[in-house]
Amino acid sequence: MYLCDLRVPLRRVKGVGPQTEKDLGSLGIHSVGDLLTHRPRDYEDRSKRIPFAAAPQNGGRFNTTAFVECHDFFYVRGMKTLKLILRDESGQAELSFFGRNERATAHYAKKYPPGLRLDIAGTVAVSFGKLQCVKFEMEEAGANPELFSAVLPIYPLAGGLAQKTLRKIIRAVCGEGGHLEDEIPAAVREAEKLLPLPAALKAVHTPASLGEADLGRRSLAFRELFLLQMEVARRALRRKAAVRPERAYSPALQEKLVQGLPFRLTRDQVKCVGEMRADIQADHPMARLLQGDVGSGKTLIAFLGALLFTQAGRQTAIMAPTELLARQHADNAARLLEPLGVRLAFFSGALSGRARRPAIEALRAGDIDIVIGTHALFSEDVEFRDLGFVVIDEQHRFGVAQRNRLFVKGLHPDVLVMSATPIPQTLALSAFGDMDVSVIKTMPEGRKPVETHLALEGKEQKVYDFVRGELARGNQAYFVYPLIGESEARDLKDAQSMHRRLQDDIYPGIQVGLIHSRLGEEEKRNIMAAFSAGEIRVLAATSVVEVGVDVPGATCMVVEHAERFGLAALHQLRGRVGRGNCQSYAFLVYSPDYTELAKKRLRVMKETTDGFRIAEEDLLLRGPGDLTGVRQAGLLDFRFAALPGDTRLMLSARAAANAILEQDPGLLAPQHSCLRGVGAPA
Ligand code: ADP
Ligand code: MG
Repeated sequence: MYLCDLRVPLRRVKGVGPQTEKDLGSLGIHSVGDLLTHRPRDYEDRSKRIPFAAAPQNGGRFNTTAFVECHDFFYVRGMKTLKLILRDESGQAELSFFGRNERATAHYAKKYPPGLRLDIAGTVAVSFGKLQCVKFEMEEAGANPELFSAVLPIYPLAGGLAQKTLRKIIRAVCGEGGHLEDEIPAAVREAEKLLPLPAALKAVHTPASLGEADLGRRSLAFRELFLLQMEVARRALRRKAAVRPERAYSPALQEKLVQGLPFRLTRDQVKCVGEMRADIQADHPMARLLQGDVGSGKTLIAFLGALLFTQAGRQTAIMAPTELLARQHADNAARLLEPLGVRLAFFSGALSGRARRPAIEALRAGDIDIVIGTHALFSEDVEFRDLGFVVIDEQHRFGVAQRNRLFVKGLHPDVLVMSATPIPQTLALSAFGDMDVSVIKTMPEGRKPVETHLALEGKEQKVYDFVRGELARGNQAYFVYPLIGESEARDLKDAQSMHRRLQDDIYPGIQVGLIHSRLGEEEKRNIMAAFSAGEIRVLAATSVVEVGVDVPGATCMVVEHAERFGLAALHQLRGRVGRGNCQSYAFLVYSPDYTELAKKRLRVMKETTDGFRIAEEDLLLRGPGDLTGVRQAGLLDFRFAALPGDTRLMLSARAAANAILEQDPGLLAPQHSCLRGVGAPA
């Protein structure tokens, strides 16, 4: 039996009543299997004795055997309160039963008479020069020795669930794990010096030492990573098994486009185009992740790829995460590709029925070479005559699952996923582990790194003055805010109010625009066009300008309440400037009462413009978060593994999975990816 088969409902577990069932449910625990994979958030090591006097005073732990030396009574707000004076070999400590009524006090006095020996563990505090037991657990000496000599797991709790109750329940079901089969071949496990599944579960929930608990966790983490890597490797194999005839694609159109450009391709662009071309001509579909920092020129690579297909009479779909970006790509395509005779179409959810039907017809008939749009391109009623190539821009805004939807339609196009949020290698290998990766590192010539300044709220006048100078030079600026409109709840600047202030007070006489997600698509389009043309000089915005927007004349990016933005978002925002040949500036205005973590994050922004480093830092500081949208896809929702900490473990899990599948591709059918969250979408 496998762990996933332990779907035994909680009602059948001893000690679980309706209330406990509800509390467990709110922790996401619905079965015995879920109980077994409920990870302790910490451990309390009671394997060692710590007498009172040895406990670090203020919050320090003790674990000792003491006897009740005598009772003392005192009054707290008129309430008679019992105090036990305890003594162990090291000295004295006091233990008070606060807030009990008369009857309870009498009850405890009787239950803990002078002379009684107690096993007791807890933490101490010093008050009025005396050691006080604060949080404690005690039993008559010898009544429950395990409780005072073991390493105890500390679980996340919910509702009225007590730590003690949950320990008891899990300890009881741990026995049920005894006959579980392990998906990891013994040889792999032994090479890694890890425990088999049943032993690993026991080690995590009832460890004899902290070392054993850690070994258990690592064993279970490896299992999760291994199952994920098996799934990833299987997906890659399936793709490579979808064999098609090799085919030569002529680069004639590509070359024509390159010759007409006012600049030369960077070395990395040339390399990526080459890698893509090799994929396209290969005998199995391409799945390539193109990573390149903002402004590195990914769009052009997508166009160059598409032209290979156009030349061969096949179709391309380019998808962007927002209407705004899709429009921008469409405009660029019109400028660069239409002169080459390429037939273009735009497609989005905003397309009215009247415009939609002819577009769909044209796609079906093959009268369109390249269609550019939003995820509406995935709609059921959209069909292609011969879809050869799919480009997905800014992958992190898409669920990973989306790229699989095409395959459900029975299509096996070549797929290029482009990401400007650099995906740290650890994530790339797990979530996108079945894809080949191309990286653009070299930026187009003449680009100067953006100068970044942190400014304390209250000093933003200086920033405004600096921007005024840039505007006088004919340059443009973005001002970004965390909110669209005024919020009663929070004392934050918002785009709408600041739009008025910027226009009326700060930059009178200069055209200030406003853009945010609540505006209609057409309005957004017009505003961006006006900003692009330089008619609007200052743009007050929310993070809608985050992804991909390209206006080379903009040299200033001011983000107010910068502490409210993630690092990845800040990096994207900063990438909106520095796209032309002038020196550009980013100003991150932060509020004085921000957390240490926010401070650290902003410092990273100042120190580096390397998107990969920023992504790594973000991962370290915040965990995977929304960095790539992979969390929603459930891909990194591990119970025991944690990235980037477990990177080494993941690399060996990956190597093991690849080795196994290479030897025997039929091995290990996918049904055993059973831990919650683990197992990639089909
Ligand atoms: P991103 O990688 O962020 O999507 P874009 O594709 O939007 O970047 O490119 C940013 C800008 O750089 C565009 O204006 C594009 O025309 C320009 N560009 C692309 N490649 C080069 C190059 N080799 N030399 C100079 N400019 C380039
Ligand atoms: Mg882009």
